[in-house]
Amino acid sequence: METDNPFCPIRQQAVPSAEELQDGGSDDPLNEQDISITPVLIRRYEGRAVFLISSECAMYCRFCNRKRMVGRGWDPGEFFEESFRYLSGDTTIREVILSGGDPFMIPPGLLDKILSRLRTMQHVKTIRISTRLPVVDPGRMTREHFTILKRHGPLWIVIHINHPREITPEFLENVRRFRGAGSVMVSQTVLLRNVNDCENILLKLFEALVSEGVKPYYLFQLDEVRGGRHFKVRLEKGIRIMKALRAKASGLAMPQYAVDITGGLGKVPVDYAYLKGRKGKKAYIENMSGATGIYTDDGDESRCKQCGLCK
Ligand code: SF4
Repeated sequence: METDNPFCPIRQQAVPSAEELQDGGSDDPLNEQDISITPVLIRRYEGRAVFLISSECAMYCRFCNRKRMVGRGWDPGEFFEESFRYLSGDTTIREVILSGGDPFMIPPGLLDKILSRLRTMQHVKTIRISTRLPVVDPGRMTREHFTILKRHGPLWIVIHINHPREITPEFLENVRRFRGAGSVMVSQTVLLRNVNDCENILLKLFEALVSEGVKPYYLFQLDEVRGGRHFKVRLEKGIRIMKALRAKASGLAMPQYAVDITGGLGKVPVDYAYLKGRKGKKAYIENMSGATGIYTDDGDESRCKQCGLCK
């Protein structure tokens, strides 16, 4: 981080600024408290649950949507037993997302116990760990962490990374060790004004991740958190950036641009509308350079006959 450069992308994400005093936003923009089963278990979607196993983080991003609870000195462990009871009792949950704070901030032995407990639940097929620690404090990832990940694998690791300058040799060493432990790696990035709201910056980030075996998964529109307004980028600009990226990047390097609708209505993709219209069976579709072609859309629309489950 360049401490004397106010435009340093790392500094802007980490150091408080007077702009945070602007009006707007809320402490819980996604309304997580109202849909929480326990104070550490969030259930927004059918089939999956978010388990907040740590209240500490290595970064304390200024735009964090859980500022209300991260780094506030409370112990999520008090609510683990009731959370495990719910998770083991609801057999519709197929995926558990470990989050926080940062799951790698808890003692490795405790992480091991949590993963062991989840692996006893036959219905929980997939475990995802959302983390920023391997990027912002890579030296805290220990040999013990990777031994544990290997024991409970395959695990999905979602790396929060926002700028190509966050790709350091130490981070890349962690990526290699995750892969060695059999983890599947994807990334999520938050679109931030004056930090990464540029197709060239994002192209560099996403291509570097792909070349190291990390699939860019989501580019998130900023949640409307109190004190984060100065980081906001207009949706239309985000869509333009994604369109420019699509013209340059391989599909592997393209994340899904998405917005989590304020108030807790859920996450939806936002994208440029390449289908420009139709006349009868002619569908007019724009290509990456702005030229419009015609696709003869005379295919079948009826229900498939395979599974018999569709309504
Ligand atoms: S890494 Fe995630 S949980 Fe931690 S402060 Fe940043 S946004 Fe919040």
